[in-house]
Amino acid sequence: MADHDVDLFVIGAGSGGVRTARMCAQQGLRVMVAESQYLGGTCVNVGCVPKKLFVYASSFREEFRAAKGFGWNVGESNFDWPTLRDNKNREIQRLNDIYGNLLEKAGVELVEGWAKILDPNSVEVNGQIYQCKKILIATGGTPFVPEFPGREYAITSNEAFYLDNLPDRIVIVGGGYIAIEFAGIFNGLGVETHLLYRGDLFLRGFDLDIRKILKEEVEKQGIKLYFSTDIEKIEAVSDGLFTARLNNGGSIEAGLIMYATGRRPNIDNLGLENTVVETQSNGAIIVDDYFQTAEPSIYAIGDVIGRVELTPVAINEGMALTKTLVTGVPTTIDYTNIPTAVFSQPNTASVGLTEELARQQYGENLRIYRSKFRAMKETLGGGDGKVFMKLIVVNDTDKVVGCHMVGEGAGEIIQGFAIAVKMGVTKADFDATIGIHPTAAEEFVTMREST
Ligand code: FAD
Ligand code: NDP
Repeated sequence: MADHDVDLFVIGAGSGGVRTARMCAQQGLRVMVAESQYLGGTCVNVGCVPKKLFVYASSFREEFRAAKGFGWNVGESNFDWPTLRDNKNREIQRLNDIYGNLLEKAGVELVEGWAKILDPNSVEVNGQIYQCKKILIATGGTPFVPEFPGREYAITSNEAFYLDNLPDRIVIVGGGYIAIEFAGIFNGLGVETHLLYRGDLFLRGFDLDIRKILKEEVEKQGIKLYFSTDIEKIEAVSDGLFTARLNNGGSIEAGLIMYATGRRPNIDNLGLENTVVETQSNGAIIVDDYFQTAEPSIYAIGDVIGRVELTPVAINEGMALTKTLVTGVPTTIDYTNIPTAVFSQPNTASVGLTEELARQQYGENLRIYRSKFRAMKETLGGGDGKVFMKLIVVNDTDKVVGCHMVGEGAGEIIQGFAIAVKMGVTKADFDATIGIHPTAAEEFVTMREST
């Protein structure tokens, strides 16, 4: 021990790294963490938190529209992007400071700079070499943009958080979480929004009914959708305008073109070549059930292992690893029934199996419950926004194996039902539960079978 400067050297102060560093230090380990950019990592700086603030900002347009039917005259409204961006930046700075204080209070030493692994027990930051009993790689990921002519004109979500001005029109490429969330954000803030996806329907991997309903709802909001469409080339036109040349022969001129085509693990210049750590073809670090790499002294968690790229997953992996390192009891996490929400407008949220996966697993031994209704607020609000809910139940055991929703507050609602699904809830338990009236969520406990 004495020949090591630290028991654990954590590379990356993001969701997973900060949690592990704090927990291990609180349990008496000597911990150091290196961070090259910003405390709190992706989630706090260019992910979950600023994204959700932007989602709130963009939802006011619909609120103003609906207000009239409830007797409110909100008058002429206008939106000022620099106010939102700068207020958001201040809030993020506040969170950065909180993260710094949390690390300090836990007794973690923070080194600001790029960390490179020199050998299985040493890390270099700013020219200083640290001897480490163990190393944790928690370096997260970076936006991926495919190669094509004019790629250099495209922005990613990283830049979208700090724009000088909003464009009149934006083209967003991708059909995953970020593309859909940002399409809702830009559209809500008044930017003419065109969403291009290479497949036939976005959110691959989500329940098909959910994807179809979300498509209808997103179109109602005014977002222009293009499926089976990709950009072949981007050309710069004068005055900060770009032309996206499409694979269907068409073109769209826009002030911004944003790629949201997935993320890749941050492993470049990390010194992995100085170790026997193995990676998958996409760069994800290969770990065993207990987050140990092929190099026994080196562990990895979070986005860099490419399992489930969500903040609570990175945090839970970090807590499991802490237990392993502190108590010696190998501990992992359960990846089944991880609830998730896309902060689209309206929200989309799910826990458990999609109908497609449930069919593969249970064949015809399923009962499907669906409900689609007009959101109550729309009755006076004057809109046509729908709520959609779906339950997937195994026939012979009565177990609810999938719970899905599109509608306002879906993220909040599904978080609650996720506990029940995780516990192995049956449809009879749903039926025995009395609803809270009037809510949208009460529909989940009154649903009858549909085909
Ligand atoms: P990160 O949080 O990315 O942290 C890695 C840190 O390591 C970074 O700070 C980086 O600067 C640092 N680093 C990298 N290499 C080095 C090095 N060599 N030396 C020193 N430091 C280094 N998840 C949700 O659950 N809900 C959401 O709503 C959500 N929204 C998102 C929105 C967007 C736009 C994006 C991009 C992501 C979103 N995510 C969301 C995903 C979530 O942000 C990630 O899953 C999470 O941040 C992963 O945590 P991590 O600890 O693995 O890595
Ligand atoms: P996703 O993996 O969710 O989506 C990537 C999208 O890009 C897919 O639609 C994919 O299409 C498409 N794509 C991939 N490669 C290409 C290509 N070469 N050309 C055209 N399209 C391409 O990634 P995101 O970047 O949206 O987000 C990264 C991760 O961050 C998410 O997976 C999620 O885990 C996390 N996140 C979570 C959020 C939340 O919890 N609310 C919000 C934002 C991010 P195809 O489906 O055909 O492969």
